Amino acid sequence: MEGVAWAAHKYIMHGFGWGWHKSHHEDTEGIFEKNDLYAAVFSVLAIVLFAVASQGHPLIGAIAIGVTLYGAFYFIVHDGLVHQRWPFRNIPHRGYAKRLVQAHRLHHAVEGKDGCVSFGFLYAPPVEKLSAELRQRGTVAAEKRGRSASPVNKAPTIH
Ligand SMILES: [Zn+2]
Ligand SMILES: [Zn+2]
Repeated sequence: MEGVAWAAHKYIMHGFGWGWHKSHHEDTEGIFEKNDLYAAVFSVLAIVLFAVASQGHPLIGAIAIGVTLYGAFYFIVHDGLVHQRWPFRNIPHRGYAKRLVQAHRLHHAVEGKDGCVSFGFLYAPPVEKLSAELRQRGTVAAEKRGRSASPVNKAPTIH
């Protein structure tokens, strides 16, 4: 499922499906963002798979359970922990959980749909590796801006 999610994120959501996913890479107001429609699509997919499985296809049932579990985990960890849509008090400071959060934060370090890293979720590469990859591409939004005005001598912006 991680492989499927990675491919869907990289080629669909950052491809022709950017229209929905864009909302997740921008600041949005309100509780819902357009990107949540993907969760709805995956839920419907899981329901269809369960329906097929009930007709005597146990293998499809196993896939349906996999999709559902992945979706639940993603909903809790990605939406809740990483993006703070749930009132989690503690941000993990060590181990795998910390790496997972950092890796996904780096996915959001790039503005726009191209040049992003870390499309997967469960498999979180070490931060150093992702940072190096980003630096090499030079696509980090903050760095891009920094090229025209360094943050040290930049006048404070009034919003
Ligand atoms: Zn994305
Ligand atoms: Zn995210």
